[in-house]
Amino acid sequence: MNEPLTCSCQMKTDLENSADAFSFFKENYPLSSITNNLNTLSKQELRCACCLMGTVLTGISQKKTLWERLKVKK
Ligand SMILES: [Zn+2]
Repeated sequence: MNEPLTCSCQMKTDLENSADAFSFFKENYPLSSITNNLNTLSKQELRCACCLMGTVLTGISQKKTLWERLKVKK
Protein backbone atom coordinates (compact mmCIF):
# COMPACT_ATOMS: atom_id res chain seq x y z
CA MET A 1 0.00 0.00 0.00
CA ASN A 2 2.94 2.32 0.65
CA GLU A 3 4.67 1.32 -2.55
CA PRO A 4 3.36 4.10 -4.84
CA LEU A 5 4.61 6.79 -2.46
CA THR A 6 8.11 5.37 -2.43
CA CYS A 7 8.26 5.56 -6.22
CA SER A 8 10.89 8.03 -7.32
CA CYS A 9 9.90 8.60 -10.93
CA GLN A 10 10.60 11.82 -12.82
CA MET A 11 6.93 12.87 -12.70
CA LYS A 12 6.84 12.69 -8.92
CA THR A 13 10.14 14.54 -8.59
CA ASP A 14 8.84 17.29 -10.88
CA LEU A 15 5.65 17.51 -8.87
CA GLU A 16 7.50 17.76 -5.56
CA ASN A 17 9.69 20.52 -6.98
CA SER A 18 6.77 22.53 -8.27
CA ALA A 19 5.40 25.35 -6.15
CA ASP A 20 1.77 24.53 -6.80
CA ALA A 21 0.41 21.06 -7.48
CA PHE A 22 -2.64 22.32 -9.32
CA SER A 23 -0.75 24.43 -11.84
CA PHE A 24 1.72 21.56 -12.25
CA PHE A 25 -1.10 19.29 -13.39
CA LYS A 26 -2.64 21.99 -15.53
CA GLU A 27 0.64 22.54 -17.37
CA ASN A 28 1.98 18.98 -17.57
CA TYR A 29 -0.95 16.63 -17.23
CA PRO A 30 -4.18 18.32 -18.26
CA LEU A 31 -7.14 16.17 -17.34
CA SER A 32 -8.32 15.98 -20.95
CA SER A 33 -5.06 14.40 -22.09
CA ILE A 34 -5.24 11.85 -19.28
CA THR A 35 -8.82 10.82 -19.95
CA ASN A 36 -8.21 10.69 -23.72
CA ASN A 37 -5.27 8.34 -23.24
CA LEU A 38 -6.55 6.17 -20.41
CA ASN A 39 -6.71 3.05 -22.58
CA THR A 40 -3.26 3.53 -24.07
CA LEU A 41 -1.34 4.19 -20.85
CA SER A 42 1.14 1.51 -19.84
CA LYS A 43 0.97 -0.24 -16.49
CA GLN A 44 3.96 1.83 -15.33
CA GLU A 45 2.26 5.08 -16.35
CA LEU A 46 -0.90 4.09 -14.52
CA ARG A 47 1.15 3.27 -11.43
CA CYS A 48 2.76 6.69 -11.62
CA ALA A 49 -0.61 8.38 -12.01
CA CYS A 50 -1.45 6.75 -8.67
CA CYS A 51 1.82 7.83 -7.07
CA LEU A 52 1.25 11.42 -8.26
CA MET A 53 -2.21 11.35 -6.74
CA GLY A 54 -0.78 10.02 -3.49
CA THR A 55 1.81 12.80 -3.42
CA VAL A 56 -0.84 15.46 -3.97
CA LEU A 57 -3.17 14.00 -1.34
CA THR A 58 -0.33 13.86 1.18
CA GLY A 59 0.53 17.48 0.41
CA ILE A 60 -3.07 18.60 0.76
CA SER A 61 -3.56 16.77 4.05
CA GLN A 62 -0.40 18.39 5.43
CA LYS A 63 -1.62 21.82 4.36
CA LYS A 64 -4.96 21.20 6.00
CA THR A 65 -3.26 20.21 9.21
CA LEU A 66 -1.22 23.40 9.13
CA TRP A 67 -4.32 25.44 8.41
CA GLU A 68 -6.18 23.85 11.29
CA ARG A 69 -3.25 24.55 13.60
CA LEU A 70 -3.42 28.21 12.62
CA LYS A 71 -7.16 28.27 13.26
CA VAL A 72 -6.68 26.79 16.73
CA LYS A 73 -4.17 29.50 17.60
CA LYS A 74 -6.65 32.33 17.00
ZN1 LIG B 1 5.83 7.04 -10.13
